[in-house]
Amino acid sequence: MGIELAAENIITTRLREVVNWARRSSLWPLPFATACCGIEFMATACARYDLARFGAEVARFSPRQADMLVVAGRVSVKMMPVLQRIYEQMTEPKWVISMGACASTGGEFDTYAVVQGVDQYIPVDVYVPGCPPRPETLMEGIMALQRIVDRDGLPPSGGQRRPLQIAIQPTHEVRPQPVPLTVGGH
Ligand code: SF4
Repeated sequence: MGIELAAENIITTRLREVVNWARRSSLWPLPFATACCGIEFMATACARYDLARFGAEVARFSPRQADMLVVAGRVSVKMMPVLQRIYEQMTEPKWVISMGACASTGGEFDTYAVVQGVDQYIPVDVYVPGCPPRPETLMEGIMALQRIVDRDGLPPSGGQRRPLQIAIQPTHEVRPQPVPLTVGGH
């Protein structure tokens, strides 16, 4: 956020940048978890990875209260209208993360019954690779979305979607260290 010190104890900035900063610092996720990627989302939301650092620790299961839809898992053709309805019920501005190979491409489920990429039906802002993506990769995706929100500014009049899309790289080299277990409290 661009901040300028005009004089002692006086800070100037632009409203647009303040709004963007507030939005990117409080992304509220709605996890649309249909398969194993959903379990990885749950792991990411736990204390070990601390999504609160990004202001995104409170999962909302009402579309009215969420602005970051995380599609985690394969989506069947029959389920797609439900996902579209949920997306439509979210208020603007809103963003979509496609988490994992299944959500982005159908993954290994190359069948008539599975959607071969949710971006054929709803706009996707960030694609997170992996099967499943590690929590670090999902967090990288959330940070990529924060960069989009920073650049995006206020929603354009007319409700047009933003053209920005980011595909991030896997972060397999980042691995958490095992936590030693203490037996008997000693
Ligand atoms: S991408 Fe892999 S881990 Fe995620 S839902 Fe598909 S099969 Fe499961």
